[in-house]
Amino acid sequence: MSGETIYKLENAKSGRSSCKKCKIKILKNEIRLGVETDGPSFKLQSWYHPTCFTLPRKLVKEKGMTACQFVEELLEDYTVDEVCSNDTEMIVRQIEEKVSVTKKEKGGEDGDGGGVCTERIKKNLARLREEVLGSSDDEEEYENQPKKKRKMNKLSEEERAEAEVYAMYEKKKNDELKDVLRWNNQMVGGNKDALLTRIIDGQLNGRLGICPSCEKGKMKLKDTEAAKAYCNGYFDEENQARIPCFYECSLKEAPRLLPWYTEEPTEEEKEKMKAMAEEGASNNINSSSTSENIDAKAKLLKRASKLNWNLDSKSGIKEAAQDLTTLCTKDHLVDVPNDDKITKMEIGRLVVQNRSKTASEVMELVIHKFGLTQAKIEKEKKQAKSLSAVCGNAENVGVMQAILELGDLYFKEGNRNAGATYKKVAQAIKELTFEITAENAKGLGKGKTKVCVCVYV
Ligand SMILES: [Zn+2]
Ligand SMILES: [Zn+2]
Repeated sequence: MSGETIYKLENAKSGRSSCKKCKIKILKNEIRLGVETDGPSFKLQSWYHPTCFTLPRKLVKEKGMTACQFVEELLEDYTVDEVCSNDTEMIVRQIEEKVSVTKKEKGGEDGDGGGVCTERIKKNLARLREEVLGSSDDEEEYENQPKKKRKMNKLSEEERAEAEVYAMYEKKKNDELKDVLRWNNQMVGGNKDALLTRIIDGQLNGRLGICPSCEKGKMKLKDTEAAKAYCNGYFDEENQARIPCFYECSLKEAPRLLPWYTEEPTEEEKEKMKAMAEEGASNNINSSSTSENIDAKAKLLKRASKLNWNLDSKSGIKEAAQDLTTLCTKDHLVDVPNDDKITKMEIGRLVVQNRSKTASEVMELVIHKFGLTQAKIEKEKKQAKSLSAVCGNAENVGVMQAILELGDLYFKEGNRNAGATYKKVAQAIKELTFEITAENAKGLGKGKTKVCVCVYV
């Protein structure tokens, strides 16, 4: 896997780049698709208009990748509007135009991805129809199959339910299917089979919720591998950076939200959905519902309410910042930076920005900014658990977690290159089946070695 290629989508940082295909200049802020290849000592970077980009032959031919899979799995999204998640459809369509042309040239390959799952359900539906109706006169193709095969095994409850939902939607147009997914706040990219697979899963199990690992990204259904859900990260508004995530789980374990809407939700219901999504995320970051967290928060707010709070003078503000800092560091209740000076400065800023607020209200903001120590520990535990499910060797979870954390820090600082390097390293560790030790770490290749050694020191 040397000379790895990175595909990314972003808003052009300047108006200087031009499209490699059509040679026309790409305007500043216009969405451009970048291809970055690692050379021996340099990076090769080229830019395209999404409509001018052709899916590389090696992906189409060797991996059977569709434009939809490319956008969902490979394309790293750095766009301000998170185009890959929010407007998958549009970007897939732009890239797809050329895929179909390449396919025709090559005499066409059948199957468009995401079909494995629906094929199975389709067959089950045919069997279900036969069971219910006695015969299936509208399934000519099925009638032609040998009789013996049909009676093989009985359908399970689950297969039956899947087939029933499939029957409800099979005749619908793609646009109608996309509406259903939109009502439920799910991805709308992909071909009909991918859309159907998502609807069947949602109707039977509920809407896919927020990732339990990063607590911000939306869980998505894997189109290629049936019965799995994943998170590929989220866009961090505050730092204007995309934070990658690696969480993966079975459909049964995936976080779910109810209900699944089979008709357009009312305005009131839409509001409720929005609140639910926001609550799900922010709740977890600050005070996860555990009683310990609630206690810690209550304690901090109470202590703050007793502070001598007078923000009319410079010295009063200084004192307020110092007092809040002391409360945070005492008993280590809030996860503030190690350096008290930095903490005091950050808290001071919050105090000044919120001069009309009470001490408790500002404390609440401080907790929101830094998070509770206990909540962070719990979050790390949960993340370790989720990583051990995807890590090739469970012994590497700690290293992977540490590297992901470093990567997150770089992304949040706006250092995307460093962040992306750590992300790649974490990805590589995920695939390893042997345990990383100080000795074999040296053999893991340049760049990676450096990082591994850092972790051990
Ligand atoms: Zn172009
Ligand atoms: Zn995540």
